[in-house]
Amino acid sequence: MSSKKNLKEEALHYHAKGRPGKIEVIPTKEYANQRDLSLAYSPGVAEPCLAIQANPDDAYKYTAKGNLVAVISNGTAVLGLGDIGAVAGKPVMEGKGLLFKIFADIDVFDIELDTTDVDEFVRTVKILEPTFGGVNLEDISAPACFEIEERLKKELNIPIMHDDQHGTAIISSAALLNATELVGKDLSNVKIIVNGAGASAISCSRLYIALGAKKENLYMFDSKGLIHPSRTNLDGKKIEFANAGMPAETTLEEAMKGADVFVGLSKGNVVNQDMVKSMAKNCIIFALANPTPEISYEEAMAAREDIIMATGRSDYPNQVNNVLGFPFIFRGALDVRASEINEEMKLAAVRALAELAKKPVPDLVNLAYDEVNLHFGKNYIIPKPVDPRLITTVSPAVAKAAMETGVAKEPITDWEAYEHQLTK
Ligand code: NAP
Ligand code: MG
Repeated sequence: MSSKKNLKEEALHYHAKGRPGKIEVIPTKEYANQRDLSLAYSPGVAEPCLAIQANPDDAYKYTAKGNLVAVISNGTAVLGLGDIGAVAGKPVMEGKGLLFKIFADIDVFDIELDTTDVDEFVRTVKILEPTFGGVNLEDISAPACFEIEERLKKELNIPIMHDDQHGTAIISSAALLNATELVGKDLSNVKIIVNGAGASAISCSRLYIALGAKKENLYMFDSKGLIHPSRTNLDGKKIEFANAGMPAETTLEEAMKGADVFVGLSKGNVVNQDMVKSMAKNCIIFALANPTPEISYEEAMAAREDIIMATGRSDYPNQVNNVLGFPFIFRGALDVRASEINEEMKLAAVRALAELAKKPVPDLVNLAYDEVNLHFGKNYIIPKPVDPRLITTVSPAVAKAAMETGVAKEPITDWEAYEHQLTK
């Protein structure tokens, strides 16, 4: 049996066995006798209802709201599968729930909305606000995802993040900071080529600029070519990255000549070895299209030796994996009851991830990857997902940034106790 067929059967069996799906709801209070039940439900339950009616913030005291995140999708851009519809995306949303739980002990209700109408989507999420402590938007196609997130950020008072945009931006930014540092280049001087102009490419580019990259040094391509001011067909947010620094008809191949950084958020196999060879000395290649990168790890590494390479895949070094971010970012945001996830909180996550990669790696991380001595360098520019220090590094950094920017309703005072609580 081929390994692809094996995986298919194994994956279907994994999801179907026992109770179908990957998550369930478990009571957190005792329910052994009639007394417990009269507290959990009628008549006792009326007391917290009345308390919350008098003070809505008491929902955080008496209900699961404060640790409950909605993972919400309409199934229009699921993984690399595309617009497969709301119900077909449900396994991914349940999977996200599983990851939130195991990495950061955050509970998730996955919500699949059968609509592509932006107004209907926004209205629906808005009226769900009482239930949740936060909202993770997931797998919503561009350009609708931009408007949905922008409007919900304005209308909701709980943290909200579209992970496909910002998760990727945060993790790849940490990788980019460390990669430029390793090759001794200054982010403000590097020439960056971004292939792809969708949800993730726009958001990554914005964050690279917030970290010091110069817009005039960044050239973005979509499926039709260079994003140039003369283009009349620029939808979504593409116009933000229109750059007249090269002629409108410049091809990707031509643009890559002498470039310091290539970031691929487009589709597989659109970069060849000659293009890699034409880049500047000590070039950085993030080929992030999933599951097939813009150029394979083997091909890029065979083209030249001085590359720092990252992909979205777990079977090569430097995996840009959103799981390094979202569980810990939401953990920090929920723990100070932040009213939003703002730019400073994202930048704090970037810096925390970048710094963690420079620290000595615990044995159990080496063991998990069959490595003896993972250490900061070309093959280890970002932490590994199993690193137990992620939660105690990223969540406090995000929580602190929320406090410093005045969006934390429940500031943390005892950081030592907080860290201890995170490792329980
Ligand atoms: P998206 O919103 O659909 O955007 C895809 C973009 O790629 C579009 O702008 C599209 O151009 C462009 N494109 C397609 N073919 C191209 C080509 N041959 N040359 C240049 N641009 C091309 O998708 P997304 O969510 O941003 O994701 C894009 C890719 O990145 C996917 O493969 C996804 O799996 C991957 N990704 C990886 C990670 C990770 O962590 N590794 C995270 C997020 C996304 P048009 O606008 O002209 O259609
Ligand atoms: Mg996603």
